[in-house]
Amino acid sequence: MKLDILVFGAHPDDVELSCGATIAKEISLGKKVGIVDLTRGELGTRGSAELRDKEAADAAGILGVSVRENLRFRDGFFVNDEAHQQEVIKMIRKYQPDIVICNAVDDRHIDHGKGSKLVSDACFLSGLIKIETKIGNDSQNAWRPKQVYHYIQWKNITPDFVVDVTGFIDKKVESLMAYKSQFYDPDSTEPVTPIATKNFKESIHYRAADLGRLIGTEYAEGFTVERYLAVNSLADLL
Ligand SMILES: [Zn+2]
Repeated sequence: MKLDILVFGAHPDDVELSCGATIAKEISLGKKVGIVDLTRGELGTRGSAELRDKEAADAAGILGVSVRENLRFRDGFFVNDEAHQQEVIKMIRKYQPDIVICNAVDDRHIDHGKGSKLVSDACFLSGLIKIETKIGNDSQNAWRPKQVYHYIQWKNITPDFVVDVTGFIDKKVESLMAYKSQFYDPDSTEPVTPIATKNFKESIHYRAADLGRLIGTEYAEGFTVERYLAVNSLADLL
């Protein structure tokens, strides 16, 4: 299946937290979008890997993505080496996305920066025809996405561009609330983590609202790029 956009996250929920509204908007515009999680988030303080598998599937259904896969790398300990790059390359060649979106280039959780570089490197390597990969017995063709964008998660990285997601913030929040084990729940008896606070839940709205304020819309999500942004015309920008 060919996808327009393939979005990678080190942990289930990274994608929804950082660009869930953008995904919902692109799907509403007719784009085919898939998600690949690198790990099952098994080191997460709250919940369990099995619970997070189910939550991730529920969130994918809410957003309406065409496919969601999990590479089952080791949470916290995966590295950016040939073996891991090969697995990411297989996903890129399998889905042939025009656009790849991956983790923030730098973040509080060490897996985010690692995942960002791993996926970025794999996007380049995936275009080299002498790197051979197979799924089952089927050899894959080389494929390099046209664009690699990085979303922004915990840290306030200055975006290179923002997407107007007015009208899609509720869908994002709905997809996040599928991760019942992870976020603020006043009745939970599990330990409180930085993302399980009331402030963090509210930050989903106020950070998107702040980016929206700066571009004159209600809500926006920000991204960074790996090369210059190009437009055909000055009129292309909102
Ligand atoms: Zn994460």
